Amino acid sequence: MRWTTTPRADYVSPPMSLQLFNTLTRRVEPFTPLAPPRVTMYTCGPTVWNFAHIGNFRTFLFEDLLRRHLEWSGYDVCHIMNLTDVDDRVIKAADAAGKRLGELTDPFARAFFEDRDFLRIKPAHVYPRATQYMPAMIALVERLLERGVAYRGDDGSVYFAIAKFPTYGRLSQLDRREIKVGARVASDEYGKDDPSDFALWKKAGPVDEQVGAVWDAPFGRGRPGWHLECSAMSLAEIRERFGVETLDLHCGAIDLIFPHHENEIGQSEAATGQPFARYWLHGAFLNVKGTKMSKRYGNFLTARDLQEQGVDAGTFRTLVYQTHYRQPLDYTDTALEAAREGSLRMGRFRERLEGGAGRGKTGEDGGGRLAGLAQQLETDVRAALDDDLDSPKALARLFDFVSAANRQLDRGASGEEVGAAMAVFDRLMELFAVLPGARQADPELVPWVQERLGARDRARKSKDFKEADRIRAELKARGVEIEDTPTGTKWRVV
Ligand SMILES: [Zn+2]
Repeated sequence: MRWTTTPRADYVSPPMSLQLFNTLTRRVEPFTPLAPPRVTMYTCGPTVWNFAHIGNFRTFLFEDLLRRHLEWSGYDVCHIMNLTDVDDRVIKAADAAGKRLGELTDPFARAFFEDRDFLRIKPAHVYPRATQYMPAMIALVERLLERGVAYRGDDGSVYFAIAKFPTYGRLSQLDRREIKVGARVASDEYGKDDPSDFALWKKAGPVDEQVGAVWDAPFGRGRPGWHLECSAMSLAEIRERFGVETLDLHCGAIDLIFPHHENEIGQSEAATGQPFARYWLHGAFLNVKGTKMSKRYGNFLTARDLQEQGVDAGTFRTLVYQTHYRQPLDYTDTALEAAREGSLRMGRFRERLEGGAGRGKTGEDGGGRLAGLAQQLETDVRAALDDDLDSPKALARLFDFVSAANRQLDRGASGEEVGAAMAVFDRLMELFAVLPGARQADPELVPWVQERLGARDRARKSKDFKEADRIRAELKARGVEIEDTPTGTKWRVV
């Protein structure tokens, strides 16, 4: 399927006001994509050997806000996120569980999508899985061999020769000596010419055969290295869709800068001769008591744990966006409780607007002050996000607005003004998606929804479909989405 690159009829050229911190230059720079309004965005995805933890999801939430802001600004975003379903960790876990690769990874891929939906993260447009892109990976290795930047090691694996790629280290700003020291410590492969060279293709071993992690290639039976996967899949996707070999945005957590992203650049640019990505964005960690959340340290929580503990997605999103994506986020009970309060406050304000607070008092509308506040809010939020995605500032402005708007509503505002404020507020809630979910919602909402669903059922039974549709719209206006299933009508707050 080719991507639609023709702007919509109602397309307005995106304002060129977005500035982003580019790891490649260590500077905040104006964002100019290769072919606006199109933006190609590649985000390194989860390794599906286990559940992703909330530290991983912090990164995915920063990327979610970036994407939503780009779309809100008028860009036509193509978001690609890979699933790593073969690498050292996957193979080890499959072997330990006595499973084939797919038997291990399929359930975790499904779990990842469920967690993504729970946390209201917009689905990427495509989720390439490493095991389904072998021809692209093999072709990339062949190209690197042809160009003389890759070689077959004594151990039968294929390596990338960093000495043949002079700009290696540009992203991480490490000099050769530092890279070599790091590589020697971590090196567990002995067939390399230089300890800092990395494997593109690993020769198959007995465990790889056992779990089904082997593919035939002209340069030997084996499996891809993790770094190779991202280069091959991202290039395959943008080449196929747009005929280009340069991404606009490449994102991930800061621990991917070296060696993962450095190696991705080496492989991609040595093969194509084109810049691999125009902007590199990296999110900071989520810490627990000052330590990075990690499976290695055993201090991790999954999205499932949050759900079990009754932590709402609106709360978690508020918590994440109250810290700038380049600052470490400390996960504490106090911070979580404050975020919950914030999310509930947004929810109560939305209810108040929906309840038509102040409506019918036309004539005592405070001279359009509420509509003016809302308009200013939208301008301020846009400016904050344009400034390297300053979400803490944007949320602070939102809370200020809620206070000021509540005071204005106490004094009275016309229905027209309330409507204008609600339109702006809803647009911003679409951007941050921080409203409380059904379980956290106003306790009065549940009986109301049940009463309305009952009325809708009765209308449908008496074939009054017009009334049934009207009730559906009434529910939707309060953020309640319904779905008719064979076992009855299900609902959720969106
Ligand atoms: Zn990657």
